Amino acid sequence: MFFNKGKRLQAMEKKNKCPDCKGRGIHYFVGSDFFVASPINCTSCNGTGLFTEWSNSLG
Ligand SMILES: [Zn+2]
Repeated sequence: MFFNKGKRLQAMEKKNKCPDCKGRGIHYFVGSDFFVASPINCTSCNGTGLFTEWSNSLG
């Protein structure tokens, strides 16, 4: 099986953007009564939005 995930990760790596939050450093939870468009820090990149931080958090 071939997954496109690798290609996408490479693209994010080139831009140095966190794949989880797409470089924004935050996540939005929409559709909840308590967290309507309330941003929280991306834990994968520690809110930096950087691919390098995301990569570090994996190890
Ligand atoms: Zn992130």
